[in-house]
Amino acid sequence: MDYLAGLNPEQKAAVEQINGPVMIIAGAGSGKTRVITFRVAHLIRKGVDSFNILVLTFTNKAAKEMRERITQMVGPEAKNIWMGTFHSVFAKILRVEANKIGYPSNFTIYDTDDSKSVLRAILKEMQLDDKLYSVNSVLNRISAAKSSLLTPAEYQNNPQIQADDDSSKRPLLGKIYETYAQRCYRAGAMDFDDLLFKTNELLRDHPDVRNKYQHKFKYIMVDEYQDTNHSQYKIVKTLAAVSENLCVVGDDAQSIYAFRGANIQNILNFEKDYPDLKVFKLEQNYRSTQNIVNVANSIIANNKEQLKKHVFSEKETGDKIKIMRAFSDNEEGKQVADAIMFQRSTNGLNWHDFAILYRTNAQSRSMEEALRKNGIPYKIYGGLSFYQRKEIKDLIAYFRLTFNPSDEEALKRVINYPKRGIGDTTVDRIIVAADKNGLTPFDVVLEANRYIEKAPASLNAFATMIQSFQVITKNQSAYEAALHIAKHSGLLKDLYEDKSVEGLNRYENIQELLNGIKEFSEREDIEEKGLDVFMQDIALLTNDDKDKDKDADTVSLMTIHSSKGLEFPHVHIVGLEENLFPSQMSLNSRSDLEEERRLFYVAITRAEYKLTISYATSRFKFGTLISCEPSRFIDEIDAKYLELDFTAKPASSAGSSSYENERTAWTRKNDTYSKPKAATTPPVKTTSILAKAHVPSPDFKPSDTSNLQVGMQVEHERFGFGKVLTLEGNKPDIKATIFFKEIGQKQLLLKFAKLSII
Ligand code: ATP
Ligand code: MG
Repeated sequence: MDYLAGLNPEQKAAVEQINGPVMIIAGAGSGKTRVITFRVAHLIRKGVDSFNILVLTFTNKAAKEMRERITQMVGPEAKNIWMGTFHSVFAKILRVEANKIGYPSNFTIYDTDDSKSVLRAILKEMQLDDKLYSVNSVLNRISAAKSSLLTPAEYQNNPQIQADDDSSKRPLLGKIYETYAQRCYRAGAMDFDDLLFKTNELLRDHPDVRNKYQHKFKYIMVDEYQDTNHSQYKIVKTLAAVSENLCVVGDDAQSIYAFRGANIQNILNFEKDYPDLKVFKLEQNYRSTQNIVNVANSIIANNKEQLKKHVFSEKETGDKIKIMRAFSDNEEGKQVADAIMFQRSTNGLNWHDFAILYRTNAQSRSMEEALRKNGIPYKIYGGLSFYQRKEIKDLIAYFRLTFNPSDEEALKRVINYPKRGIGDTTVDRIIVAADKNGLTPFDVVLEANRYIEKAPASLNAFATMIQSFQVITKNQSAYEAALHIAKHSGLLKDLYEDKSVEGLNRYENIQELLNGIKEFSEREDIEEKGLDVFMQDIALLTNDDKDKDKDADTVSLMTIHSSKGLEFPHVHIVGLEENLFPSQMSLNSRSDLEEERRLFYVAITRAEYKLTISYATSRFKFGTLISCEPSRFIDEIDAKYLELDFTAKPASSAGSSSYENERTAWTRKNDTYSKPKAATTPPVKTTSILAKAHVPSPDFKPSDTSNLQVGMQVEHERFGFGKVLTLEGNKPDIKATIFFKEIGQKQLLLKFAKLSII
């Protein structure tokens, strides 16, 4: 069968144009991502070496799905393609080349919390007003500077920037940036922006490295190009400078990260950069019904700044877009839950056919509550993830310190946790001594008696412990080392002794993490399985990749930002109210408002068959009930596409049920006093790598699998029961693809797999 048969003529032309610069700017659902996928398969079929292909996606999940699809088309060659987010791909390159720019190859990746903690310390030392110099605003400023490739010196010498900072009464921002950069460097740490910033530095200052990757990546493709920032643009441009085989796809109408420095100019400049550029247009939307596409088009037409394009659907006209009005946010949750239950049972759908999209994370609470009350399984994407939990970060900080003793944030986190009598004053003294002597804090701890007056003996013990961990990680598997560290640091015991519900929960989370590491260290599809590699993987998970378990039958809840590139048969967009969506912050300028409208466009275009939009006329905000007006975006939709459903009654007049009153009272109380309470967060679901291990049957014994046949039923020590789908390769390297009931399909190398035939 012709492997390009699943493409329309324009898509096919874009796929077949493999040489030279190519740009596809097209509407949502028109197959841009599909074109990239097919293009890669096509390149490989045409004989391009898969090692020479680089594909940059917006989330790791998107990369994973793309790789699966390409594997189906071209087989295991797909494994060699460099594919991932900008951050993950360039972190990998930086690990190899770090020494060239003065970093250790085991550099730590600081997450946002680490960055904030560094900044807090700097602001304190400089005795600055933390309202004027709020940590968030300083971090944003530094992030913007890095995304525009400004070094601290360039930042400080730029008269325009200095004038801006003077007028906002924060003349010391440049100095803070400089100190922050020094601190990260001393700690052998890079923050997320550094992964791109330092890549640029590396490629700019080291012609040999630049040359190497320019020749390695002969074919480069970038999805969601509209959301790249200057730093990303520059990397792509540099890498593609030799081959010029660069294909970017995007949609200016879906540019929703300007607040994070994404630059629409990157699309507009493309034609200037590459005069012989080939541009392809895709106009047919294959995702959504005509009504949904028409509504999306009518909304985006209100934006002044846009590249005009014609998008149409040839699918059925479809249902009208339903607008639901509720009298409170809790009522809205209830209506959405009712609608989902109704649709599911009348149309025989699954829970995973539904998504609820919202503007801000806080809105998930009322949705969750209603879903839970109705017993609807759901899953939140983004938000506080497993890896952001305190206990998980504590254990990981021990790992970090073991691999990179310069990591100051990790040191501060665990030097006195569990408690070992090293107080804040001692920690402050360590930092001061480190500064004074040009050492890392860990160097000071190693020779505490020399640098610190009345150093507690436990400092020596701490240093020796970390050194012993270093030995363990060299000699043992990731899992054994992790378990050893969890035990010998005292962390496991500390959590075990806390018998409260939360304590138990934390202990279980650590067990869960250890399970995940165990599974990782037993993976058969990767070669490097050290604890350091595991840590790098989790440091680079983007919000959207975390906690994702796509096989589970659950309703998906996420912010609209996280929903980019995805599609669902039924979509609920909630909270369409002035000051919420569009957000209050966006109402001051046309460009901000237009970005909100693009966000609405993204939300609408996620829906395949049915779209429901809702708003509440009152909502709790910071503990007070405020009344809300419907969003202007609803008015912008042509009424002929709409169906109004205003049947809901205010909660108070529906008071026939005492449950209703009780519910309202309960939620008010919770709204007012305990918004972030643990009781309102769902049970943690973890990624598949963290899936609980299967407990083998009592009589499980790995058997001789040399006679294994397709169709046989098997039990795997950890993956559970399954059925053999295919067998490939020759003895002794036969690979079996097995469908396991609990975890889905897996490919195993038989000689290593612990299987028993049943
Ligand atoms: P977005 O802008 O939201 O990222 P996109 O342009 O990347 O969307 P895709 O996700 O590639 O669009 O495609 C949207 C849907 O349409 C997918 O389910 C895809 O498989 C399907 N599709 C695209 N092109 C075709 C085609 N020629 N034939 C059949 N289905 C198609
Ligand atoms: Mg896409």
